[in-house]
Amino acid sequence: MTCDHCGKQVPDAVFCTNCGAHQGLADHGIAAQERPHHFAAHPGEHVAQPSIFTTLFPHLGQRKLQEFRWALLLGFALVVVLTATGLITAAVLVSVFLVPTLYVVYLYEAEVYRKEPALVLGATLGGGIVLGIAVTIISERVIGGSLGSTGLPIVSYGVILPVIQLIVMPIPALLLRVLPQFGSTIDGLVFGVTAGLGFALAEGLVGYWSILTYPPLQPVSADWIYPITSLALLIPLLHGSTAGAVAATLWRPSRTGSGRWIALFGVPIVLVAVVAFYAGGLILDNHGVGQLIVLFYQTALALLVVLYIRQLVHHSLLEEGLGQEYRPIVCPYCHHHVMAAGFCPSCGVALSASPRRETGLLTAPVGAQAEPEGQ
Ligand SMILES: [Zn+2]
Ligand SMILES: [Zn+2]
Repeated sequence: MTCDHCGKQVPDAVFCTNCGAHQGLADHGIAAQERPHHFAAHPGEHVAQPSIFTTLFPHLGQRKLQEFRWALLLGFALVVVLTATGLITAAVLVSVFLVPTLYVVYLYEAEVYRKEPALVLGATLGGGIVLGIAVTIISERVIGGSLGSTGLPIVSYGVILPVIQLIVMPIPALLLRVLPQFGSTIDGLVFGVTAGLGFALAEGLVGYWSILTYPPLQPVSADWIYPITSLALLIPLLHGSTAGAVAATLWRPSRTGSGRWIALFGVPIVLVAVVAFYAGGLILDNHGVGQLIVLFYQTALALLVVLYIRQLVHHSLLEEGLGQEYRPIVCPYCHHHVMAAGFCPSCGVALSASPRRETGLLTAPVGAQAEPEGQ
């Protein structure tokens, strides 16, 4: 049949394998083409569903996602047990390494780095760690020194430092943009998240350095649970998603198409979210608002960034998946045996958002053809 949206001859199926449009909604124009009910990296979800895992780990299939969710849950349960028993040093160490470690496992699972694991990990995670150490130490000297005593802490800790972090964090990821094999927006997202997590790891280690030298067993105190939760989950979520959002926004190869308006809002949304996260958190704290409320408030702001990333990733995957070659695959999402180009014809998943080895999609710059396999 001929697809109404891209005009190509494609097999009769629920989704167009060439452009990803929802053929079942042929009458609905934009809705069929943009298919908001079927997120391109995870078609079982709406694009506007605030799901953290399917956004920041976009290459994982259902089963793998579940494994990663369990790993994070168990890791955090360990952190809570360590905190509750007064083993604060151990709790801090597990918290700092928990999410970055999971993400490195994910990078290996998805093979986002193609054939360059050392280069990609060194640049993104390593670069993020180095910058995190430098920025955190310098800012502690400057803000904790002269500026802190005279200036307003809300301005320095709530606005200036977060903005500096936001500018610095995506830099190591953006250096990889020059390599032709990493042309997809989703590569930029994943590299940005990795750099942000490296930064979060370094910031956590530097910030809690003095605690690491305490005796291992501390008096048990319920007050620890909030800073530890923030250290283990909230700050990695914020740094990972903001650095990923900025990197992906600047990564986009085409500044045209349906995603251009979304990309335009990227940096302003992230900037507002980050300042509201830190400055708002400090203001709420100063007014004696409970720490649990502050935690919810800050999580909501991080989720706003996640929602932006989903819109950007969705439109980028739909645009960049065009023009791939047909090949027989087992869909990594719905497990059907299909002949597919850029999208699975039965579930509509963008095949560039799948682990490389499962789909034979080795290179995915816009408009380029997939590398022929077995030749
Ligand atoms: Zn089509
Ligand atoms: Zn499928």
